[in-house]
Amino acid sequence: MAYIEVVKETRTFQNGEQTTVANRDISFEVAQGAVVTILGPSGAGKSTLLNILGGMDSPTSGQVLIDGADVSQMTARQLTTYRRQDVGFVFQFYNLVPNLTARENVELASQITSDALDVDEVLELVGLTHRANNFPAQLSGGEQQRVAIARAVAKKPKLLLCDEPTGALDYQTGKQVLKVIQDAAKQTETTVIIVTHNSAIAQMGDQVIRINDAQVQSVEHNAHPVPLA
Ligand code: ADP
Ligand code: ADP
Repeated sequence: MAYIEVVKETRTFQNGEQTTVANRDISFEVAQGAVVTILGPSGAGKSTLLNILGGMDSPTSGQVLIDGADVSQMTARQLTTYRRQDVGFVFQFYNLVPNLTARENVELASQITSDALDVDEVLELVGLTHRANNFPAQLSGGEQQRVAIARAVAKKPKLLLCDEPTGALDYQTGKQVLKVIQDAAKQTETTVIIVTHNSAIAQMGDQVIRINDAQVQSVEHNAHPVPLA
C-alpha cells in the first residue's frame, strides 16, 4: 500500500447561493520518503489540498489515507493530535518566534515529542550550526527558512508540508532551500509535499502533480529530479 493514498477527494465550499468546487475527484498515491511537488496556478486548489493533507480541513467526500489512517474520517480531536504529532509545516513567511534564537525556535518544536531529533543534529542538517544563537531578525530569508525547516523536521513528522517555501526568496536562494528540504527529508525518511506555482522549482520533485481548475491534470514521476542550474 502506498504511504499516501488520496482517492476521489472532493472539497466544495458553500457561500450562500454560490458553490465553489476547490478540489474535484483528486486521486494520487505517494511512496514513503518521496518528495512531491504540487504545481498549479493561483486558485487551482493547491492550498485546499494541503490543508486537507495537514488535517486543517476535511474533504466533502473521498478518502485521504496517510500511513493507513483515513484523515477524512477523523474527529476534530484526532485531527489535532495528527497535526501535532505527525505533520511538520513550512510556510512562505517562516513563522519563527522573533524573540527566540534559531536554536530556541527548534527546541520549542522538539519539546512536542519525546523522540524528537537532537537539536544540534538538525541545525547541522540544515547548515545553520554557526547561526544557532542568532535571532530571526539577524538572519537572511534563506537562513530563516532553514530554521523553519529544522523546526519542522525536529519532531520527526510522517509528513512535511511546505506551502510555497521559496515564495519569498530569490531564485538561487530558493533552490538552495529546496535542496535543504530534499536532503533533510532523505536523511530523516520524511515524506514531503511542496506546493509551488514555480515550474522550475516543481521539477526538483521525485513526483510532480499538476493541478488545474480543482482537478489533477497530470502526475509525472521523475527518475532523475532535475538539479537546477
Ligand atoms: P490555490 O492554493 O491553488 O491558490 P485554493 O485552494 O486556495 O487555491 O482555492 C481554490 C478555490 O477554492 C478558489 O476558487 C478559492 O476561492 C476557493 N476557496 C478556497 N478556500 C475557500 C473558502 N474557505 N471558502 C470559499 N471558497 C474557498
Ligand atoms: P496548538 O493548539 O498547539 O496551536 P494546532 O493543533 O492548532 O496546535 O496546530 C498544530 C500544528 O499545526 C502547529 O505546529 C501549527 O503551527 C500547525 N497549524 C495548524 N493549523 C495551522 C494553520 N492554519 N496555519 C498554520 N499552521 C497551522
